[in-house]
Amino acid sequence: MTTFRFQALRETFNRKPIKFTEPTKHSEAFGINVFSENSMRQYLTKEAYNGVMSAMTKGTKIDRKIADQVASAMKEWAMSKGVSHYTHWFQPLTGGTAEKHDAFFEPTSGGNAIERFGGNELVQQEPDASSFPNGGIRNTFEARGYTAWDPTSPAFVYGTTLCIPTIFVAYTGEALDNKTPLLRALQAIDKHATAVAKYFDRNVNKVNASLGWEQEYFLIDKALATSRPDLIMTGRTLLGHSSAKGQQLDDHYFGSIPQRALNFMRELEYESMKLGIPVKTRHNEVAPNQFELAPIYEEANLAVDHNSLLMDVMGKIASKHNFKLLLHEKPFAGINGSGKHNNWSLSTNTGVNLLGPGKTPMRNLEFLTFFINTIKAIHEYEELMRAGIASASNDHRLGANEAPPAIISVFIGEQLTNVLKELEGVTNGKLSPQEKTDLKLNVVGKIPEILLDNTDRNRTSPFAFTGNKFEYRAVGSMANCANPMTILNTIVAKQLKDFKIEVDKLIANKELKKDEAIFNVLREYIKSSKNILFEGNGYGQEWEDEAARRGLSNNKTTPVALRAKVSKKTIDLYDEMEVMSKVEIEARHEIELDEYSLRIQIEGRVLGDISMNHVIPAAVNYQNVLIKNVTGLKDVFGSEFESIAKEQLELIKSISEHISGITIKVKLMIDERKKANVMEDVEAKSITYCEKVRPYFEEIRYHCDKLELMVDDNLWPLAKYREMLFTR
Ligand code: ADP
Ligand code: MG
Repeated sequence: MTTFRFQALRETFNRKPIKFTEPTKHSEAFGINVFSENSMRQYLTKEAYNGVMSAMTKGTKIDRKIADQVASAMKEWAMSKGVSHYTHWFQPLTGGTAEKHDAFFEPTSGGNAIERFGGNELVQQEPDASSFPNGGIRNTFEARGYTAWDPTSPAFVYGTTLCIPTIFVAYTGEALDNKTPLLRALQAIDKHATAVAKYFDRNVNKVNASLGWEQEYFLIDKALATSRPDLIMTGRTLLGHSSAKGQQLDDHYFGSIPQRALNFMRELEYESMKLGIPVKTRHNEVAPNQFELAPIYEEANLAVDHNSLLMDVMGKIASKHNFKLLLHEKPFAGINGSGKHNNWSLSTNTGVNLLGPGKTPMRNLEFLTFFINTIKAIHEYEELMRAGIASASNDHRLGANEAPPAIISVFIGEQLTNVLKELEGVTNGKLSPQEKTDLKLNVVGKIPEILLDNTDRNRTSPFAFTGNKFEYRAVGSMANCANPMTILNTIVAKQLKDFKIEVDKLIANKELKKDEAIFNVLREYIKSSKNILFEGNGYGQEWEDEAARRGLSNNKTTPVALRAKVSKKTIDLYDEMEVMSKVEIEARHEIELDEYSLRIQIEGRVLGDISMNHVIPAAVNYQNVLIKNVTGLKDVFGSEFESIAKEQLELIKSISEHISGITIKVKLMIDERKKANVMEDVEAKSITYCEKVRPYFEEIRYHCDKLELMVDDNLWPLAKYREMLFTR
């Protein structure tokens, strides 16, 4: 009898690579499946075009007549591409994307039919989406949810479906998705960053947050992945002995990309191009079979949509190339997991990156203003920043000596550290003309346009300044970027609002000049937020100790980290910035805790299942082989057999010990699960899952991995690490 694993290995071995040749140049494919400004200009009347553009840039409402025109043009455009269906495309609180396709087709009298798509269908839909998580919102309010068109993110064609990006809200107005709070946060940062940018340039009337994500992932042969119920059900391996060769030789990182993976990437990139996702960079990552892909940064809402869409496209194209795509943060123990860096900056309608230094002292003072306010915001809300990246899967990564620790800190590099030191010494109140000249020419004026520390990246920092942007490095690889982006933009918006109030007060009360007032407030901020700055090694125990002395939080697990999302401070923040109401915040908290418990519950079940139904039977089979061997030896050697069969006897005993270890621990784990499952309180339940159920995973795994080393390779049913990680 061959095991499923051997069939899978044979299938993998015999794979013919799926070739892909780009039908056209990337530049010709770019955006062809997007109802972009260009297609709108072509398909819309001038009136309708102006209506959509003004909704996109100024947030004005689109009236019914124009919506009808836009819908009809969209339909025409989509049908020219062979499209038959449309869908409102949204991002429910599951973290993924959702779509429900409706045909354009509509029967008319006399047995005929037409293709119809009107303003009503474009603007609003009521999907029967009662099974999406809502944290009790819809039950409490007895209201259904509806989706509403987000004209700031263009419609696109995916397959044979026209996808219209939408928000998803309850009839009572509460957000039920990831996009709605993000859009509100982006409005807040626009408003407050614009007000501050006006100190430096009156022509600024809009500030956009930009996001450039970097997506890490693994590709595993589909057949091998299928032999692993844990990979299929949980996205990670719950057991598996480490491979003799892992990443220790560093021979994968930036190495030549394996042909099969390259074919996948080429097709993925071409598809992304057509969808207007400006992918630019690809390379091997640190772990074997791990890769990364990054686009050119875009306006944050669009970038979030593009990342969500890309994760979906990736899975489909991977499958076509006979790969299983793994976006889990820690699919394999003992080698690096995956993350998703979120590069973030702020840019004005006048073309200035507020987080990049410039040529003049005034421009650099503006840069410092936004730079220091961001640091201050992170200091003020570090615990919320940590909460924003919390998930059962990301818990494996944060603080695991390969990813940033669970402690949030900011890395700014040596040059800017020195600039902040100088600014800290600025005189209180009015500045003498000499002091002003000094500051402007020798401190602010000396910040080079290109910061050298740019290259000196501290990879252990969760939030690092990298020359003209901050890089939020602790985001999970399978996370929806909307969540961390909502938090970051909201806290910086709030900080900029407070900053402007303080500066204006100093100008009014003390009759300080504008730049004096700005220097004064920034000096105080540098002093009060210094504790968040850290340039050292974030992996060491020393930093944990130092961070504790500094009073920084170190929330290692999701249920605990999530508390910051419902603190009074957060509720006040979201209320003031008009990002989320208390009801919305509490509903989300409940959903996230519930999701945590469910994920651990599923992992517990799958682990119990694999260890009892796959591992133990294989071990018993092998043990029987050994027993037969020993009995044979006894027949041959008589009383001498015990010394001759010593090793086999040890092995038989040892197998029994591990079998009993698994059996006992699986039972104990199930008992703990039962206790957790009857708990009413969602937080208590998640904490029980975290503290009582989860610790058994490692213990059970220990016995299974030991058995993997003992049992005849021919009998082992699950694809091994060395096979999943090194087959090409
Ligand atoms: P890496 O971090 O891998 O060395 P880069 O720092 O060059 O690579 O870029 C990583 C990502 O940061 C890319 O998606 C890029 O588009 C994005 N990025 C570059 N400049 C900005 C910016 N001003 N704002 C936001 N993202 C940016
Ligand atoms: Mg980076």
